[in-house]
Amino acid sequence: MTNRFEHLAAPGVRRLAPYVPGKPPEQLERELGIADSIKLASNENPLGPGPRARAALAAALPGVGMYPDGSGHVLRSRLAEKHGVTIDQVTLGNGSNDVLVLLAETFLTPELEAVYSQYAFAVYPIAVQASGARACVAPANPVEHPMPLGHDPAAIRAAIGPRTRIIYLANPNNPTGTWITGPDLEALIGAVPAEVIVVLDEAYHEYSAEAGVPDATAWCARHPNLVVARTFSKAYGLAGLRVGYALSHPDIADLLNRVRQPFNVSVLGLAAAAAALDDREHVEATLALNRRGLARLGEGLTALGLKVLPSAANFLLCDLQRPAAPINEALLRRGVIVRPVGNYGLPNHLRISTGTAEQNERVLAAMAAALAENA
Ligand SMILES: *Cc1c(COP(=O)(O)O)cnc(C)c1O
Repeated sequence: MTNRFEHLAAPGVRRLAPYVPGKPPEQLERELGIADSIKLASNENPLGPGPRARAALAAALPGVGMYPDGSGHVLRSRLAEKHGVTIDQVTLGNGSNDVLVLLAETFLTPELEAVYSQYAFAVYPIAVQASGARACVAPANPVEHPMPLGHDPAAIRAAIGPRTRIIYLANPNNPTGTWITGPDLEALIGAVPAEVIVVLDEAYHEYSAEAGVPDATAWCARHPNLVVARTFSKAYGLAGLRVGYALSHPDIADLLNRVRQPFNVSVLGLAAAAAALDDREHVEATLALNRRGLARLGEGLTALGLKVLPSAANFLLCDLQRPAAPINEALLRRGVIVRPVGNYGLPNHLRISTGTAEQNERVLAAMAAALAENA
């Protein structure tokens, strides 16, 4: 279907395909007339928000009649303290997605280029294309690599040219779950020209720290062109509130702040995020649940004859070695929502988030049935 206003849209927007989110359970239940579906499709925390965030939300509710503090002072100072940086190095976003887009809006123009890896997080191509800049996609690691389909630092370096202004890296990456080790990552960042902004997306940091993936926020002091993006959507269980942030050199933060919407984080988001930072217990419980989930799903999927990529996050990318679409349909009919990744160029894979013990068993049972049905 043609869009009658398409020719009026900015050139970058004309060729753009929208981000495809995980299917909401309510929608599946409406479509199939079923109840009791589970969603392991968007890497959310199965425990939801912790008790401190819940209490802070209840306390903040009467305040929603007023605009939020546009500077997000309390949350930014808490984050500065946590990361050992100054408050002027912290930029808040409506989710880290907002920060990723702000960076493109701030630094990219149609004359410039941005580099990211094949199979990198889908928000990067959207942010880059919308800006009109050219995307240079670095080939990913081959399947037989120890980090199959993951970022290849050498290919990323080779993709940098005179017009490159931004590099987007996700560590670990979504949807692959793969990561670049500390020494390789710092060597890559060190090799990037000083006038190229390196955006390092650490959305899964709390999970990946357990796998030895470094905390790159400490590197901002050594690399003024490094921007680290973090989120409250994953381990902190606040995906529905939309709070993320960037840590950077103060001068980069100053530029982002010129483009940022004045009230991009809500009253509730600011309150819950600040409280969530104190809830170490909830994060620990989340990490423990995820460890068990990764182990159980990895073992269960492998026992079904499927291949699973290494993951330092809260999801697994599963190689079905056959078209994933019919299997996905069969899972949906059983009320199990996982994420097809054909839009990433991975038509044989499904991405499955870890859930509660019960949800993990349910997805494994549904997968066994779906495979049998499609044998
Ligand atoms: C989930 C995710 C984000 C976070 O998105 P929010 O906008 O903070 O909810 C960012 N980057 C990657 C790679 C992700 O998977």
